[in-house]
Amino acid sequence: MEDERVSYDTRSGCMHCGSLTFSNEYYNAFKVLICNSCKGQDDLISKGNAKSLYLLTDTDLKKLGSIAKSNPQKKNWSPMRLFLLSQVEDAAHKKHGGPEGLEEQRRTQLGAKVEKRVAKRKEDSQKEERAAERVKQIKERIEQESKKGKLSGEGEVYSSGSGVHEKAFGDGPAVEVELI
Ligand SMILES: [Zn+2]
Repeated sequence: MEDERVSYDTRSGCMHCGSLTFSNEYYNAFKVLICNSCKGQDDLISKGNAKSLYLLTDTDLKKLGSIAKSNPQKKNWSPMRLFLLSQVEDAAHKKHGGPEGLEEQRRTQLGAKVEKRVAKRKEDSQKEERAAERVKQIKERIEQESKKGKLSGEGEVYSSGSGVHEKAFGDGPAVEVELI
């Protein structure tokens, strides 16, 4: 695979201040010439943020260089992968069609997420409504049957003491109804 990263002439010096010293770490990882004092001008971004904010995949990110930084709080954890923000931005713009394309894509994904959540909530409340409706019907039926004095009919089991009345309706599953 062809390396799409730009190779600089190392004699040209730091891309920010022109200093002839440069960070080997940054050069090896990102193929950019930045001196140690200019490092702070270039933000780094974690892999997770690169994926969620710039909508890049692992495959996209593999093409970019990264440096490993161990988490000072969690030394046993695997080191974090940090990417150069400007390179992540470039890759995201290339992939999604410029800054506008990226923005559009973010909106679409966010919209899809919200829609999914709303649909799920609607489904849940419909399920609850159906369950409530079913319980209501069962209660009504038990009431009617008890009025008719037919309570000792087919498929009914009383577990005395527990207050639970088990009853099988037709071929449906056995249901438990708490008697009030
Ligand atoms: Zn510099």
